[in-house]
Amino acid sequence: MRNAFEPVIGLEVHIELKTKTKLFCGCVTDFGAPPNTQCCPVCTGMPGALPVLNRRAVELAALAGLATHCCIASLTHFDRKNYFYPDLPKGYQITQQEKPLCENGYLMIDTPQGEKRIGIRRIHLEEDAGKLLHEPSGTLLDCNRCGIPLMEVVTEPDMRNADEATAFLRKLREIVLFAGISMPA
Ligand SMILES: [Zn+2]
Repeated sequence: MRNAFEPVIGLEVHIELKTKTKLFCGCVTDFGAPPNTQCCPVCTGMPGALPVLNRRAVELAALAGLATHCCIASLTHFDRKNYFYPDLPKGYQITQQEKPLCENGYLMIDTPQGEKRIGIRRIHLEEDAGKLLHEPSGTLLDCNRCGIPLMEVVTEPDMRNADEATAFLRKLREIVLFAGISMPA
């Protein structure tokens, strides 16, 4: 009997960028430091703190756009996405909702039927939230991750099975590691 349903898969992939400092402040991005030793008034959203964009993060995201055949925007801007969550002391995330840095790209993947084009709708920059640690005594907050630069890659819904999604992710991972955009986990 024929399967009545067809899987339609689009992906949203978050990739940590290989920068020395955070997206909007000078705090270092080293992984595994003691909790709350790599944060400042900017990344914890204290009143009056002003974000300053990390040039290297923009360069790396644009590089990812070029490597995936995207158009790189000549004009882009950031938006505040307001929401409450305990790992977000600022109460908003700075992201690119309206004008992403990169748009309309693609990657070619290998499938049993031959090469297939997977569209990339957009690549934009945003900052990560903090990390919650759930202990028996209660939940603890580590702000070291607040403001870590992320690149979000959003594909078109062009994949039709898990093998295609896996092939896309492997290809994307290969590119960002080879180009020095992100680091291996
Ligand atoms: Zn900071």
